[in-house]
Amino acid sequence: FTSKVTKCEPTNEPLVEYGKTFQFEGYQVTLENTILFPAGGGQPHDVGRLNDTEVVQVLRKGDEALHFTREPIEVGTVVEQEINWDRRFDHMQQHSGQHLLSAILEKEHNLPTTSWWLGLDESYVELDSTKVSEEVIKATEKRCNQLIQEAIPVTAHTRGLPKDCMETIRIICMGNIDENMCCGTHVTNLSQLQSIKLTGTEPGKKGKTNLKFLVGNRVLRTFQLMLDREKALTGLLKNEPTRHEDLVQKLQKNLKITNKNLQTVLQELAQFEIEKIKSATPKPKFVIMFKKEATPEFNRAVIKGLEGEGLFLFFASEEPDKPKEGQIIIQGPEEHCNALGTKITELLKGKGAFKNGKFQGKAGDLSGMNKCKKLIEDYFNSL
Ligand SMILES: [Zn+2]
Repeated sequence: FTSKVTKCEPTNEPLVEYGKTFQFEGYQVTLENTILFPAGGGQPHDVGRLNDTEVVQVLRKGDEALHFTREPIEVGTVVEQEINWDRRFDHMQQHSGQHLLSAILEKEHNLPTTSWWLGLDESYVELDSTKVSEEVIKATEKRCNQLIQEAIPVTAHTRGLPKDCMETIRIICMGNIDENMCCGTHVTNLSQLQSIKLTGTEPGKKGKTNLKFLVGNRVLRTFQLMLDREKALTGLLKNEPTRHEDLVQKLQKNLKITNKNLQTVLQELAQFEIEKIKSATPKPKFVIMFKKEATPEFNRAVIKGLEGEGLFLFFASEEPDKPKEGQIIIQGPEEHCNALGTKITELLKGKGAFKNGKFQGKAGDLSGMNKCKKLIEDYFNSL
């Protein structure tokens, strides 16, 4: 399809892609006519090419379609229009699927559609009801797929409006199932939808429910994604998919028991550490503790057990999923805290403040631990 460029103006209107907004700086090109669909009626815009220039968005402004490009095209140029057909056909499948789905829900289950959304991965119809039952979902899915198998034709015709109105109305018909005003692009026959899969509901706006659906190639695409995920799980769990649920439940149960045992062991270890420090001769002036397996709870327990002993305490623990980062506690006689506190927190990129003679906060970089040890040892040796 070829057409002549009639206008080309700079623009910085953002790009909107399935609800996400991106900054854009480029040009908006108007043509004598176009085969690229501008966003409207719930259907996203087409993308494609004008000769070698990429069209990244098409918007409708009044009765003009604006083609967004990164480079300008001279007015008067005759351009060959090319459309990204995979994207367009996907939109046609979802949009015609939505008409079919909405028609069945309204006619057979008294659930009118109040709005719909075509997303990058999933789409939904917004239904005027707080609840949609499993039975209704199953029956609707079955009925829609039956009509797809019957290959009902989809036709478009226009109807004029009263004299004072300039535009015409476009009506999309699906056999005798549905008749709906629509400006979007549609398949010519329901068999082109291949199949519809309803994937569940979620609460919508007040008093509404969103029913999620996939049509045609999206069913296959999603099925493939699920197979890939299942294959990955089969590898991890080393057992067939029918056993996955069982195995994960068992794993979770075991993890719970292991964690409980670990807590008990850590509590006993904390008690042991407290006794060891208390009974040491000569009595130490300071305690530094940085154990890999220690949790912040363990550190707090040991510190609590050593309160009132007049010791300078410096405890650190590591974040399990972020090595280098962790939590630190500094506590003890005020003169020592004043002398060492700021230097330690600086070395560890600590965040937090001394409160009631105690520092408890995050460490941004635990690789300074050895320097801290040296600092504390030197300080107490020099006293
Ligand atoms: Zn429509």
